[in-house]
Amino acid sequence: MTDFAATKALFDLPEGVIYLDGNSLGPLPRDVPARIEAMLREEWGEKLITGWNKAGWMAQPMRLGDRIGKLIGAEPGHVTTGDTLSIKVYQALASGLEMRPERRVVLSDSGNFPSDLYMAEGLLRMMGRGHELRVVAPEEVEDHLTDEVAVLMLTEVDYRTGRRHDMKRLTAKAHAVGALAMWDLAHSAGAFPVDLKGCGADFAVGCTYKYLNAGPGGPAFIYVAPRHAGRAVPALSGWLGHEAPFAFDLGYRPGAGVDRMRVGTPPVIQMTALDVALDVWDIADIGDVRAKSVELTDQFIAGIEAACPGLELATPRDPALRGSQVSFRFADGYAAMQALIARGVIGDFRAPDIMRFGFTPLYIDEADVARAVDIIADVMNTAAWDRPEYRVRAAVT
Ligand SMILES: *Cc1c(COP(=O)(O)O)cnc(C)c1O
Repeated sequence: MTDFAATKALFDLPEGVIYLDGNSLGPLPRDVPARIEAMLREEWGEKLITGWNKAGWMAQPMRLGDRIGKLIGAEPGHVTTGDTLSIKVYQALASGLEMRPERRVVLSDSGNFPSDLYMAEGLLRMMGRGHELRVVAPEEVEDHLTDEVAVLMLTEVDYRTGRRHDMKRLTAKAHAVGALAMWDLAHSAGAFPVDLKGCGADFAVGCTYKYLNAGPGGPAFIYVAPRHAGRAVPALSGWLGHEAPFAFDLGYRPGAGVDRMRVGTPPVIQMTALDVALDVWDIADIGDVRAKSVELTDQFIAGIEAACPGLELATPRDPALRGSQVSFRFADGYAAMQALIARGVIGDFRAPDIMRFGFTPLYIDEADVARAVDIIADVMNTAAWDRPEYRVRAAVT
């Protein structure tokens, strides 16, 4: 059983803050500053360009991919890291479409994160072959899986409501109509066990700055199923995805396996932060994290519903149907969230009316949830949020 007091001690959270936004940006792992400092001085500073070989910088994207792969049920050697999630969405979708050249529909849902849809739109326009991005309601996805669909592109957990799709079932259904299934694990990786291999997913992508705590700008990851790894054609054919980058050939030849999804020079400093952040998984079991997350989210839902009649639950009550966040609807949710942040309970707001709270047992415990419920109840029931300064919208909500 994971010792959650020990995992909590690995994070540096400000005094007096209850951090319920690790689903958006994970907190700072305590060892990151020292390890980055050491990397800068001992690797960059001392080794200079030889660091690419001697400090393992060039191998780092695949090494870190394997560390993440263990949390998402990927076969070893089939996940790599780099770029941002939006870029990886583009890459995975482009490869999937090339593998279904006779089909013209990308199926997604209105619970997907806009950037995924925007990237798909841009890619389809660029391809200029008359593809259609078909966006349906989350509960209607299954009915729209027809033999027109080339790629089913979904985010497993809805960033607004926390509703979770049934990856195994939808992947099987996609395959039954001859489509490929591509999953965005932005709100899954590090939150609960994912079984890419068991589900038969074709492609998966995700980011590392949410539940994986790699810090703002942390690299993304991409998974290509082993059966496709040798034939997925990279749309972003950069030199580090080349079979032999240092042969400096004038023509592109894709590298072996998922390596071909690398594009350019990896962000080594940020990757070091990710490497350190992943150390928590040496002492934390992802199954235990899920079990505890269900307890904490159940406790939070029960507490808020008992104390705050003005908040309407937007997240499925059945734990099997949700990820690791809980959302409530409230018309003045933006102002209410600013008031909570001023009182040390940090969640966030998603337009038009969603107050979002993420739960990460790695550093949140029952006492934190109980205190958060008390503070939220006080702010809501005294209308402490109803002040002009809480209505001023910042660039990031
Ligand atoms: C957070 C998130 C993104 C963000 O993409 P970046 O390129 O990392 O900014 C994209 N898609 C989903 C589903 C997300 O949750």
